[in-house]
Amino acid sequence: MNPPVATASQPLALREFHAFEAHGARFLYMVPSAGIFRMDGPSVAILDALQLGPQGAESLIEELSSDYPLEQIVETIEELTEIRAIGDVNAPKQQVPNDLPPEGFPLTTMVLNVTNKCNLACTYCYEYGEDKIVDTKYGDAPKFMSEQTAEESVEFLLAESRGQEVAHLTFFGGETLLNFPVLQQTVAYARRRAAEEGKRIEFSLTTNATLLRPEIIEWLADNQIGVTISIDGPKEVQDGLRVFHNGKGTYDVVQPKIKELLRVHRTRPIGARVTLTQKNMDVLEIFRHLTEDMGFWEVGLAPVTTQDQRDYAITPEGKDSMLSQFEVLAQEWLQCALRDEHHGFSNVKDTLEEIHKGVSKAYGCGAGLGLMGVATDGDVALCHRFAGSPEHKIGSVTEGIDRDVQNKFLEDHHIASKTDCHTCWARPICSGGCYHEAHVQYGESSHANLHYCTWVRSWTHTCLEIYGALAEKNPKFLERFDA
Ligand code: SF4
Ligand code: SF4
Repeated sequence: MNPPVATASQPLALREFHAFEAHGARFLYMVPSAGIFRMDGPSVAILDALQLGPQGAESLIEELSSDYPLEQIVETIEELTEIRAIGDVNAPKQQVPNDLPPEGFPLTTMVLNVTNKCNLACTYCYEYGEDKIVDTKYGDAPKFMSEQTAEESVEFLLAESRGQEVAHLTFFGGETLLNFPVLQQTVAYARRRAAEEGKRIEFSLTTNATLLRPEIIEWLADNQIGVTISIDGPKEVQDGLRVFHNGKGTYDVVQPKIKELLRVHRTRPIGARVTLTQKNMDVLEIFRHLTEDMGFWEVGLAPVTTQDQRDYAITPEGKDSMLSQFEVLAQEWLQCALRDEHHGFSNVKDTLEEIHKGVSKAYGCGAGLGLMGVATDGDVALCHRFAGSPEHKIGSVTEGIDRDVQNKFLEDHHIASKTDCHTCWARPICSGGCYHEAHVQYGESSHANLHYCTWVRSWTHTCLEIYGALAEKNPKFLERFDA
């Protein structure tokens, strides 16, 4: 008998993927395509055999022929070759493509820094704290965005969103509500202008909640503004970190206002955004307080962006503790999802959505491309965290984007330029991470965030396991990520 096509090749070896298990099934997460494959008996046997070293197809067939029919083994070898889980031992490693996004890529989210002033003095703040990159206190930029600049920004968004029917406008600060009159005018203006252009704009804002009052809450609800509250947890935690300029804690001020917001504003889910530092590492307690006692629909937690020497920077032990608590919440999230119930831990939901959609990122995030930040004077930066930084300016709302600067940024920040990441299986999801984090850590926004690789890989592995378990036990649940 003639050897099948697969047996005519050079010895076969494993190629690039990350294997994981869930509910007794074994899966492959393919890199860089980000596809997920459930392995059957022969594929497990072939990969296990090649784990011991390269071998030819003929010897693989011989080894496995007592367990599986010949055709099935050959077919599986061909399938595994096709998805690039295995391949010719001498085949060159797949290059990370350096394809830049096409010209005219639409802007989908614009973050408007309506003020760079804040009524709080949180120690770890990236805008005012020790790691700030823009001098918002003594710099030349206006403290508040004018109505005219906000309207020019809306025109910029409408033009740059190009053929997109829906665009997103997020208000940010400083403390966003310090410029409430401009928020109101901008939303009214944007709605009218979007309708004239046959488009729709969705609005959201982030606030520290200290300035919420009944008429603002009503306006947020009436206008279906998505709200994210920056809050760090129960009273002793919040008062230790999120304080007024006189050092007084904010918990007693924000708690009743948030309760009222959650009671009245039912048109969009309200989320909490927690900054984790070495001083507030009880993730489980924080999460339970914010969901069960306060009533937030969802809670997202992110480690503080700071240099290692700060006393609130999370230590390696702290990162381990954070990860193990995230894993507890992820398991709870899974148990809820298996019963088709909601669980408010948004970190797991966000990563699962990316896994489900097969996202394979060329960039750490959408900054400078689908997402841009606008400073109070109308300068356009990579994102809200860079707004006002001349070094990270890519244009202005009146003069448009400087395409040369943007292209240079896109080249420098592409995964192809981050050679450290080229052998990492988590790169479809991470792609080097946040540029602002990199700027604070390494003084260079294009640097890969190598200080948190272990963390990212462990967390991505956990989310893959959750995904696999859902795919096995309640695959219908995953359909909600299709939208
Ligand atoms: S930063 Fe680290 S975890 Fe992220 S893609 Fe690069 S090597 Fe992987
Ligand atoms: S650079 Fe960082 S802060 Fe800015 S949008 Fe990207 S992930 Fe967010």
